[in-house]
Amino acid sequence: MSNDFRDDAIVLHVKNWQTADKYAVCFTREHGKIRFIAYGGRYPKNVAGRLLQPFAQLSVEVTAGQRLDKLKSCELLELPQAFDFKQMAYAAVATELTAVFTEDYAPQEEVYILLKETLYLLKERNPRIVVLSFALKLLDLVGLFPQVDACVVCGKELGEEDIWFSPLQSGAICNDCHNEAGEEKFSSGTRKLLAHLKNLNFQNPAPFSVKGGELMKLETALYKFILFQTDKPLNSINFLAQMGM
Ligand SMILES: [Zn+2]
Repeated sequence: MSNDFRDDAIVLHVKNWQTADKYAVCFTREHGKIRFIAYGGRYPKNVAGRLLQPFAQLSVEVTAGQRLDKLKSCELLELPQAFDFKQMAYAAVATELTAVFTEDYAPQEEVYILLKETLYLLKERNPRIVVLSFALKLLDLVGLFPQVDACVVCGKELGEEDIWFSPLQSGAICNDCHNEAGEEKFSSGTRKLLAHLKNLNFQNPAPFSVKGGELMKLETALYKFILFQTDKPLNSINFLAQMGM
């Protein structure tokens, strides 16, 4: 049986490998996250090497190996998106989150479709909001969505009141249980925004109307939560912070 397969792939990450090669991490439609070496990918005339760029949508042919998979061939599936600097910075958050929260060869087509739609929508809408919505949808798809409808300590169902969010305890904390400095304020408005962005239709998105303060609160709470989940800061989120985006 051949170990070759072909699949649609979105490039998450590329780096140089040894003297002449490239190493790439992709999320594919049918095989989930894969990583492979493109031998000769750093030579200027190597087609695969030129096509292997972050955010590229490719059809890849891969030979699965004992230790490392290797790229046999690839072709362009979609013309690359011409991102501006800001769109690119946010696209990098989406691809890094995908890489961090998925396992090799664990197929999940919804994740592939979500990422594909996100890369389109980033060009059309406020990339900051699109990526926040993406992050919520991704956490939901990979089973890591924080508990926000009931207090994580006492289990009390939460109504409209302003409460707290604990990144460490993965969810909302009611006012009775609130006692820790690491908790973020979690107002009723922020929770409504969270529900709105989690359910945002990416094929036919309704106009966004978002209050800056609530957006910032939600972003802070969510990125802290992600930091607790990953145990290490993400380069792309650090970069946004450094650029004041
Ligand atoms: Zn409670």
